[in-house]
Amino acid sequence: MGLREYKKKRDFKETAEPEGKVGTSRSKKSKKLSFVVQEHHATQLHFDFRLEMGGVLKSWAVPKGPSMNPSDKRLAMKVEDHPLDYGGFQGTIPEGNYGAGEVRIWDKGYYTPLGEDSPEKQVKNEKIIFTLHGKKLKGEFHLFRMKGSREENAWLLFKAKDTYADPDWEMEQLLPYGSRSEKPKGLTSKRVWVSNREEKSSKPKTRPNATKKLVAASKAHKAATAKKKRTTASSKTRTKKTSPLKAAVKASARNTKTRATTSSVRKRATAKNK
Ligand code: MN
Repeated sequence: MGLREYKKKRDFKETAEPEGKVGTSRSKKSKKLSFVVQEHHATQLHFDFRLEMGGVLKSWAVPKGPSMNPSDKRLAMKVEDHPLDYGGFQGTIPEGNYGAGEVRIWDKGYYTPLGEDSPEKQVKNEKIIFTLHGKKLKGEFHLFRMKGSREENAWLLFKAKDTYADPDWEMEQLLPYGSRSEKPKGLTSKRVWVSNREEKSSKPKTRPNATKKLVAASKAHKAATAKKKRTTASSKTRTKKTSPLKAAVKASARNTKTRATTSSVRKRATAKNK
């Protein structure tokens, strides 16, 4: 398959995404197969799920993102292969380019394929089973094409039941909004921060101001979410003022229909019943 489609879609004079070659691995010495999940605030928020095999990253766009809850069957749209270097990419894809918007590495690590066939053959056969060794994602996962679907690229990703499975698991985004059009106005990032570029230099890691702002907003979002959870029982005390960030957080919650939303509703209901 190669990277022809990947390259055709992108203008590397414009975007900082890696041009890449088949089989150029950043971890050549490692025999472990890498995986990465990237939070991508494009026209629609989605999480790109990528598995290294055959010198490329086989890729699926997962609108709701992966879940550690085996009950969550996530739609995963198969997309074009990406170069291995893409696993280290995060930053801003500039406006007007394919996939424009913020990209952040949400989780990464390595995976071990299960089953007798090679991962390539499993994907060819439209069903792959593997164990993830990430920071957030751990344990056995299944990914297979939806048979009978008219959409030939529609696959399903879900957690298998094992000791890592978590029925209360909640998606936590890194950036506090959904699609790129919902990005809060103060959070402009003109410069691109690419992690693998930093790794090449021996300079200490410094982030451009804009990224700092995004990180701060993300922290604020997390704090706000935590506070919300604590104060749901006494929701009357909350002010009606809605800052752009809060609005973005709300929009984001609507957009992703995160379990956090349903969970806090549940908690609220429980608090009322008490
Ligand atoms: Mn994407």
